[in-house]
Amino acid sequence: MKSESMLLKRRDRDDHPIPIVRLRNALERHILTRFEPMAAQQRLEKRPGSTMRLSPWFLSSFLALAVIIGGGVHYESEGTGALASSSETDSLTLRYFGAAGWELSAVPEGSADPVVVLVDPYLTRAKLGNPRGWDPNDTRPSYTRTDTLFSDTDVIDALIDRADFILVHHAHPDHVLDVPYIAHKTGAVVIGHETTINIMRAYGVPRSQLITVRGGEDYDFGDVSIRVIPSLHSPLGDKRYYQPDVVEKGATRPLRINQLVEGGSLMFLVRLGGHQIITMGSMNFIEREIEGLRPDIALVGAAPSHLEIYQYIPRLLRLLGFPRVVMPTHADNFQVPYGSEIAVRTKWIEAFSEEVRAAAPDTRLIVPQHLERIRLSVR
Ligand SMILES: [Zn+2]
Repeated sequence: MKSESMLLKRRDRDDHPIPIVRLRNALERHILTRFEPMAAQQRLEKRPGSTMRLSPWFLSSFLALAVIIGGGVHYESEGTGALASSSETDSLTLRYFGAAGWELSAVPEGSADPVVVLVDPYLTRAKLGNPRGWDPNDTRPSYTRTDTLFSDTDVIDALIDRADFILVHHAHPDHVLDVPYIAHKTGAVVIGHETTINIMRAYGVPRSQLITVRGGEDYDFGDVSIRVIPSLHSPLGDKRYYQPDVVEKGATRPLRINQLVEGGSLMFLVRLGGHQIITMGSMNFIEREIEGLRPDIALVGAAPSHLEIYQYIPRLLRLLGFPRVVMPTHADNFQVPYGSEIAVRTKWIEAFSEEVRAAAPDTRLIVPQHLERIRLSVR
């Protein structure tokens, strides 16, 4: 882990390791860059715990999609730098990292700096789990559940410069794995349940950066407020999934992949930049915990396990008062790097989109692309 002074320096710098490409028009949706393979090879290093740090093998898209809600919808093309320095109030920028991972950012009135909230940021996208989901062109090492997995710090360093808060829905690896590194790098405050926070302690994240929650809290941080919502994990295995394990205080690093257990599930309502965004890390929810909330943006768990839930989409959207914008989340193939041809689960997204259109015809459905910046404004 890096020293604090180094982390501060990193946070303050405003250059970017990947060239920012300004777009000529909104149709240029894919601007791709790739690290030099040799440079990547040189960065491979052996770490204690027997596993190899992953090499960066990914493509990034630099794209901004701006949507005005209310007074019609229009699209703008802007470079990412322009968005990051925007001083427009009542404007929120979202960026999708894949799995259940998001960046929500807004520049408060009178401030030069954005408030940045990360949600389940999982950028390592390790070759883990079902080999049928792996990309044959992916030459990275694969992992079993008894291995120790380290964050792909090259990918994270290329994509994340700053964060004020990191919200963690639950502590499975595709939600929590990269959080210790990002917390050390950015100094962000991590908000999660006891298991998540004990994992942070195991990785030396300082106490001042940890907020332990149960669900039910509604915390005001000034320019952003965050309501923590008790929830349920996806009903995996034909509803047989049940994982009561926790990570105890006193756990030590490195943790094996199978030690990253759910530890309970949460949702969040984030009030930021004139918007209310409800976030999901799973394909499930508790009806009484979300009834009456009125987010204008819902990041809805969209993988097929939601079909195990009775009337999942219609009930969810009705309980939330039919949000103006719905975006699917946790429905990509997060075992492959960004840019892989099989990173997007097109059939899942199409089926989900049809359900949303049927249940909420007035809701605007936005399907995010990996790393795309989407700016939403209220007019
Ligand atoms: Zn999970």
